Amino acid sequence: PTATRARTKVTAIPGDGIGPEVMRATQQVLAAAGAEVEWEEALAGAEAFRRGIAAGAPQETLDSIARTGVVLKGPLETPVGYGEKSANVALRKTFEMYGNVRPVRELPGIRTPFSGRGVDFVVVRENVEDVYAGIEHMQTPGVAQCLKLITEVGCERITRLAAAVAQAEGRRKVTVATKANIMKLTEGMLKRIGEQVLAEYPGLQHEHMIVDNCAHQMVIRPEQFDVTVMTNMNGDILSDLAAGLVGGLGVAPSANLGDEAAMFEAVHGSAPQIAGKGVANPTALLLSALMMLRHIGDFATARRIEHALYVTLEEGKDLTGDIAREGEGVPTAVYVERIIANLG
Ligand code: ATP
Ligand code: MG
Repeated sequence: PTATRARTKVTAIPGDGIGPEVMRATQQVLAAAGAEVEWEEALAGAEAFRRGIAAGAPQETLDSIARTGVVLKGPLETPVGYGEKSANVALRKTFEMYGNVRPVRELPGIRTPFSGRGVDFVVVRENVEDVYAGIEHMQTPGVAQCLKLITEVGCERITRLAAAVAQAEGRRKVTVATKANIMKLTEGMLKRIGEQVLAEYPGLQHEHMIVDNCAHQMVIRPEQFDVTVMTNMNGDILSDLAAGLVGGLGVAPSANLGDEAAMFEAVHGSAPQIAGKGVANPTALLLSALMMLRHIGDFATARRIEHALYVTLEEGKDLTGDIAREGEGVPTAVYVERIIANLG
C-alpha cells in the first residue's frame, strides 16, 4: 500500500565532525527499509562559517527548510571566536522551533544502572526563551546580570506541545517542573499557565514538581515520569541527566518543533577526535530519523527499522566501540549492514 505514496522531501544537513558519517549510515538504513523520503542535501556549520556566512547557514539552506519543513541534521560545530553565533541557535530561531522533545527510553542491550526498570518518558524543553535570550551585561565592574525572559505565549505553546506529545503517544501524565518557589514571576508563569492549560485536557493527569526535586526523582524513581515540561535552562540540564539514565548522549535522539519546521537531530556533538575514522555510532541520529518518519506519517517504516535496530542491539554482535559489550567494536559500516540484515 505504501508503493503509491508520494515521497516527502526532507532537508538533510550532514554537519561537522562525525556528522557526515552518521548521516550516511542513517540514510542507508532508511533507503534499505524503503522510507518514502527524498533528500535535499544542505550546508550548515563549520564550512558555512569558513565561507564567511555569519549565521552558519547559507540562504539556500534556509530556503530548503522553508520548502520542506522537515530537517534531519548532523551536529554543527559551534565556532569559538568573537561575534560568531551557533548555527544551531540560528536555525532554531529562524524557524522559531520553540520545543525540544527528547524521548528517554531504555534500549535493549544498552546496560545502565537503571536497566530493567522500564524507564520511558519524554522531556519537553522550551527552547527559545529563558536566560538563553543571551541578554547579559556587566551592571558594574564585578557584577554581572543576565535577563530571564518568560512569556505567557511561550508557556502556553510549550505546555500544549507537551500535551500533544502525551496524546500522540497515548501517555497519561504531564509533570510541569519549575523553580516557581524562588522565581515566582518567571518560573511561576510556567507553573500557572501550565496548570491552566493542562486542565483543558481531561484525559491527562497533571502535576507540578519543584525542579530540583524532579532531578532527584529522575534518579531515584525515573519510572514515575511520563511527559515532563520545563523552561529552557532547567530542561537543558534535566534532559541531559535523563539521557544519562538510558545510555548517554551516543544513543539520545531529539526533535526541535515549531509551527513552521521540525528538525530532528542526535543530542551528541561533532566528536572531532573520532571523525573520519568510520567508527562513529549512528544510533542517536537513526533514532532521530525514526521520530522524523513518524512526524511525516511513515509509521510502518519507522516500526520496521526500530525493530531491526532493537534486534541488533539485543544480539550485541556487531556494535560500534562506544556500546560494544565485548571486544573493541566494529566500524560504522558493519553495524549498519547488521541493522539492514535484520530488517528481514
Ligand atoms: P562538540 O563540541 O560538537 O559538542 P564533542 O567532542 O563535545 O563535540 P560530544 O558529542 O559532546 O562531542 O561527545 C563527547 C564524546 O563522546 C566524543 O568525543 C566521543 O568520544 C563520544 N561520542 C559522542 N557521540 C558519539 C557517537 N555518535 N559515536 C561514538 N562516540 C561518540
Ligand atoms: Mg560536547
